[in-house]
Amino acid sequence: MREDTRDAANRVNEKRLWQRHLEMAQIGAIPNNGVNRAALSQEDILARKLLLSWARQRNFAVSVDAIGNLFVRRAGSDPNAAPVMTGSHMDSQPRGGRFDGIYGVLAGFEALEAMDEAGVTTRRPVEVVAWTNEEGGRFQPCTMGSMVFTGARPLAEVLDVTDNDGVKLRDALAATLAATPDANPREFKAPAAGYIEAHIEQGPLLENAGRTIGVVTGIQGLRWFNIEVSGKTDHAGTTPLGLRKDAVRDAIAIITALCELTHDPDDVTRFTVGRMLVTPNSPNTVASHVLFSVDLRHPDPARIRELGAAVEPLARKAAKSCAVKVTPTLHDDPCVFDANVIGAIEDAAKTLDLPHQRLPSGASHDAMYMARVCPTGMIFVPCEKGISHNEAENARPADLAAGARVLTAALLELANR
Ligand SMILES: [Zn+2]
Repeated sequence: MREDTRDAANRVNEKRLWQRHLEMAQIGAIPNNGVNRAALSQEDILARKLLLSWARQRNFAVSVDAIGNLFVRRAGSDPNAAPVMTGSHMDSQPRGGRFDGIYGVLAGFEALEAMDEAGVTTRRPVEVVAWTNEEGGRFQPCTMGSMVFTGARPLAEVLDVTDNDGVKLRDALAATLAATPDANPREFKAPAAGYIEAHIEQGPLLENAGRTIGVVTGIQGLRWFNIEVSGKTDHAGTTPLGLRKDAVRDAIAIITALCELTHDPDDVTRFTVGRMLVTPNSPNTVASHVLFSVDLRHPDPARIRELGAAVEPLARKAAKSCAVKVTPTLHDDPCVFDANVIGAIEDAAKTLDLPHQRLPSGASHDAMYMARVCPTGMIFVPCEKGISHNEAENARPADLAAGARVLTAALLELANR
């Protein structure tokens, strides 16, 4: 690691970074340390204004695109070079915590300040982005800002989405954009040389392993199915078992077969039946219908394809007397992060003497869309007991700062390539 890179990483200020988390957490604060900061709300506007006030103190340039993604830029020496980007989101779940999303924005901003204080010059500009509406709690779909920025979905398709109060996204967006008039307009799909997102892990692996830095290898693939089992209602006391078409029995047989299919000694495969509707749902009647959901996840593209393809034939085979209908409802391919970016993050953690490990992300992030347009990676830091999307979300100031140090060093590495 270059001396000026190490110097910049060591200028990450744990106290300042923690203080900023507490300051942001006051915007949309709810009881028990929680945060409710819906996308494009008054609280979102206040968070944006606070970030921009800090950017102004440093003379960083700010810009905003038409979906409200907000960019803070520290200039590089080559005015024609594409920026290296970092960031995450400032919106929260309705009963969210103080770290999900906002950590990536604040760690990115801290990295810019550390670079400034170390006086390093980078060839490429380094930019922090606050993506609009990652959570999707108010307007669906989630990860909307990065989705539109990268061209995965046109802006026009999301403008008429409404929230539960009937507010149109286009109106909430216009009000949000009007609140930051000094941000320069910015194009979608502006080229990026790389993207690194820092985030709390939202799972227990790092904490349990006693490691500070997660070097994220990718985001696991996801398949959703609805499985409908159709039989016949009968009297529970009078109908011999041999004559029944019992939808619950067949649903259990299918779920048992899927449990066997997804059995994984390494505990990497995720299989969940989280919803089940039984009709007519009466204790003394044989059920005629069962509808249940399947959520299947795995980081390996070949494995998730194999598992996904096996669901329907297996379900049909397992059912003994009922008709089975399998409907796929969601399909996200796994995203594999860039080897060079993973390497830069790992090298930074190694050089800074921080205990680290590689791991895949179980949850989706904006990095999933950025990975489609530029070399991308993520840094995880531990969060207490893996709890997230919950007021009780917690992280240690020292771990947050360690993640920001690794981020600073990795960004500098990419910004001089
Ligand atoms: Zn998040």
